[in-house]
Parts: sequence; C-alpha cells; structure tokens
Amino acid sequence: MIELESVAKVYRKGRQEVRALDGLDLTVAERGMVAIVGPSGSGKSTLLHLIGAMDRPTAGEVVVAGRRLNTLPQAELTRFRRQTVGFVFQSFNLIPNLTALENVMLPMEFNGVGAAKRKEVATRLLARMGLAARLTHRPQELSGGEQQRVAIARALANDPPLILADEPTGNLDSKTGEMIYELLQEIARERTVVVVTHAETLARMSNRVLYLKDGRLAPEVGSAFRNTGI
Ligand code: ADP
Ligand code: ADP
Repeated sequence: MIELESVAKVYRKGRQEVRALDGLDLTVAERGMVAIVGPSGSGKSTLLHLIGAMDRPTAGEVVVAGRRLNTLPQAELTRFRRQTVGFVFQSFNLIPNLTALENVMLPMEFNGVGAAKRKEVATRLLARMGLAARLTHRPQELSGGEQQRVAIARALANDPPLILADEPTGNLDSKTGEMIYELLQEIARERTVVVVTHAETLARMSNRVLYLKDGRLAPEVGSAFRNTGI
C-alpha cells in the first residue's frame, strides 16, 4: 500500500533548516494497523502528511496505492486524497454547524455521489459506529468519543483503502481512547491504518510499530510476530 524510498523532508525558514525526515525506507502492506511512535518533533506528522499527499518530500520517492505522489500534478493529488485516503485528527475537525449525518455525507458530495446514496451510506456508517441515535446531533452536543466516531465514519465515507490518523486518542480519556483504537483495529482488517500515537499501550495493539527518532526509523524489533499468535 505504501512504499517510501530514501525519503527526506527539509523545512526551510529563512536561513534555518530543519531536517524533519532523513532518508526513510519503508514498505507497508495492504491491510493491518501500523503505529508510528517517537518523541515530539521526530517527524511523525511530517511522515503522515507525505503519505497522505498533504505535502511533498524534498527528496526520495513516495508511492501510495500504486501512485507515485512526487510527480502527480496538484489536481491529481486532490483526487488521490479524496479517493484513497481517509483522515482522522486529534481534535476531530468536524464542521460545527453540520449534524453528524451531514459531516459524514460531505466527503461523498466532494466526490459527486448523489444525495440519496450519500444519506444511505452515512446512516449505515454512523450505525456501525454505534451512533444510530445521534444522526441529527451537532458536534458540540456529542462527547469526545462520539465526535471521534463521527470523524471515523467520515474518514470511511468514500471507502478509501487507507486511513491515516494523527493522535486520534490524544484528546480522549484512556478508556474512550481504547474504544477508538479497537474501532481502528477492526477497520484495519480490511484496510491499511497508519496511526501516530503517544500511547504506548495503544501502539502495542497494532500489528507493527515504527519508531521515529530525529527523522529516522529505528530497526523494528519483534514486530513481525506481533498479534499473530506466534
Ligand atoms: P512530530 O509529529 O513527531 O512531533 P513533526 O513532523 O511535526 O514531528 O516535526 C518534525 C520537525 O519538523 C520538528 O522539528 C518541527 O518543528 C519541524 N516542522 C514541522 N512542520 C514544519 C513546518 N511546516 N515548517 C517548519 N518546520 C516544521
Ligand atoms: P502535531 O501535534 O500533529 O505534531 P504540531 O503542533 O507539531 O502538530 O504542528 C501543527 C502544524 O504546524 C503542522 O501542520 C505542522 O506541519 C506545523 N508546524 C510544526 N512545527 C512547525 C514549525 N517549527 N514551524 C512552522 N510550522 C510548524
């Protein structure tokens, strides 16, 4: 699903240079949950942004779902994001004046899906998230865990093969966070889920843990057998 080759990202600010990613090689298979952990400033968000085509690398190749992102024109990148990637954020990022149902319908509208179909799919997704009784609630009328479940339903709206989540449990208490993580695990049975997290306990629920430090990936230890029952 994801292939990075010698990927570097350098941010320039005046005369200052920040090497956020420094020569990453990475292959991520289809399906399964990959956690990215590491100290603040180690490049986790930058890595997620490159995979999600929200930014371009300074050097190296980024190939996601068979598309070479470095060379895709801007319009194609937008199309790629809408069809291939669902995003989940730490602060949920729901649109406050839209209901749960309308929030989930929105990405489908961007993709040209008809109104009846949008409503049908959004209703089904919210029901799957345990929110059948919350369709007409606005974000401020929902708990944090409920808002994040709406956001996950929204991320799934266009049926993308890849879900990217940046600290999805960062604003939730640990019990609610665990529930969100279990939902992501379930989603990862049929899609690829890449999740940035500070929560070690949650990272351990992933199939694979990538440890970033100073923009480099540490060798993976034992993760080949994680969650396989071996
Ligand atoms: P993490 O997600 O692990 O906290 P980031 O990817 O956000 O790390 O940041 C990695 C490094 O790149 C940090 O030193 C950060 O300050 C820097 N950085 C991130 N985004 C930008 C940006 N848009 N402009 C300049 N520096 C940035
Ligand atoms: P996160 O918690 O996801 O790592 P940050 O607070 O590090 O978020 O960054 C929030 C946004 O600011 C991101 O889009 C990131 O690229 C940008 N950013 C981070 N560090 C810097 C920086 N030193 N200069 C400019 N932008 C930055």
